[in-house]
Amino acid sequence: MFEALSERFESAWKTLRGQDKISESNITEALREVRRALLEADVSFNVVKEFVADVQAKAQGAEVVTGVAPDQQFIKIVYDELVALMGDANEPLADANRKPTVVLMAGLQGTGKTTAAAKLALQLRKQDRSTMLVATDVYRPAAVDQLITLGKQIDVPVFEMGTDANPVDIARAGIIKAREEGVDTVIVDTAGRLQIDQDMMAELEQVKTAISPDEVLLVVDAMTGQEAATLTQTFHEQIGITGAILTKMDGDSRGGAALSIRQISGKPIKFLGIGEKVEALQPFYPDRMASRILG
Ligand code: GDP
Repeated sequence: MFEALSERFESAWKTLRGQDKISESNITEALREVRRALLEADVSFNVVKEFVADVQAKAQGAEVVTGVAPDQQFIKIVYDELVALMGDANEPLADANRKPTVVLMAGLQGTGKTTAAAKLALQLRKQDRSTMLVATDVYRPAAVDQLITLGKQIDVPVFEMGTDANPVDIARAGIIKAREEGVDTVIVDTAGRLQIDQDMMAELEQVKTAISPDEVLLVVDAMTGQEAATLTQTFHEQIGITGAILTKMDGDSRGGAALSIRQISGKPIKFLGIGEKVEALQPFYPDRMASRILG
């Protein structure tokens, strides 16, 4: 996924190779390459601007370290800034003091929201945290069926009231049921539309208000490039998210969304979707991602 980005970075380092020290003039060209690399990888424009400014400030202020080549010194600065941009450390899923922990899934249709809900439920079950899935997408009967099928596959109960009930009522009833049964975590899957629309946002907000989730996870499709940044911003402004799941990281996207989400929302990516199978979910580690990006 990050091949193009890594290659571009490689040409940034090259501009510094063989220099005897890191100086203002020789970092200008390296920074130009870094900027180009990030923009080509679909990192949001504002994120790139700030990132490059931060790297520039660090590189210009850097002490000349004897025995460390300027390109290596610069790579270290870029690496550290990439890790910081993505939030430093992995942030695990919320685990509320009182049962159940409530997780609300949000996102556009087709991003992998329902699959991600099931993937998360499976991981929790494997950690011996009992889980319940709640199906509130009443607009597409297939969505409820899909969740039921996934629930059977991973042996996690699915709470549903068909497609005639109101999503807010379903979510509320699901939480009550989970509380009665002493379930540790409830994951509420919601309806997605092909595009952001006000009805969807209003409904999501109502569901959120009704169930006061401990976690609102925005599911973002890595393949959507620059769109991912706009989506994150809109959802965060209108609903308020606590984190994101970046899906389809196994695809051939240019990966820019991984770098934009935290900066745009102030909220971390918590998991990566890396395939269609229910097992294909990984915790997100900023340092590992930065290493992958640098190649
Ligand atoms: P929803 O409409 O957001 O609930 O999306 P779905 O969960 O139904 O997923 C839409 C499509 O994306 C399905 O074909 C999934 O199998 C696929 N999908 C979901 N997550 C991933 C992922 O991480 N990688 C890949 N390659 N496909 C995924």
